[in-house]
Amino acid sequence: MASNPLSWVHCNRCFTFLLQKTQKLYLLSCQHIICEPCIEQDEVSNSSRCPLCKIDVKSQLLGGQMPESCKILFHNKPLSDKKNWMNIIQFQVKHRKHLSRAIALTDSKLHEAKAKLADLKSDLRVVIKKRDEYKKKRIALEKHLQRFKEEHRKRNESSFAESGYGGSVLSRH
Ligand SMILES: [Zn+2]
Ligand SMILES: [Zn+2]
Repeated sequence: MASNPLSWVHCNRCFTFLLQKTQKLYLLSCQHIICEPCIEQDEVSNSSRCPLCKIDVKSQLLGGQMPESCKILFHNKPLSDKKNWMNIIQFQVKHRKHLSRAIALTDSKLHEAKAKLADLKSDLRVVIKKRDEYKKKRIALEKHLQRFKEEHRKRNESSFAESGYGGSVLSRH
């Protein structure tokens, strides 16, 4: 499956991709690519700020209407541009690297989360096992208590019968 030659184009701040077509993306004069919601607007000077460089920048909406000087940066075959290939490759490599670093970071976070989940699951198994043991113990104790109460009651009854009505042997001593 051939990947789209523009699959690397993403907002450098929030990782919205051009191909998602959910946000307008801008090429800023600092060479960051930033989506519309991520560009900071300075109300006072009425200028755009790069959220990463924190400097005022000019912005160019990505698309077919871009000037040639911007368009070339997104060239499919940078080497075919004899004059600018170096700049184009540097630009594209920078953005691809940014993306692959983010993917690697996400992968390692995912890996960590999976390991934590496995730990939690094994903790949970221990807790469930203990709970089952306690349950058994509780049932055994309840039975024991029941038997004890029963015996106690019987003993009371018999001593009551012996000592009480009808003249017990004990009462005459
Ligand atoms: Zn963004
Ligand atoms: Zn920037």
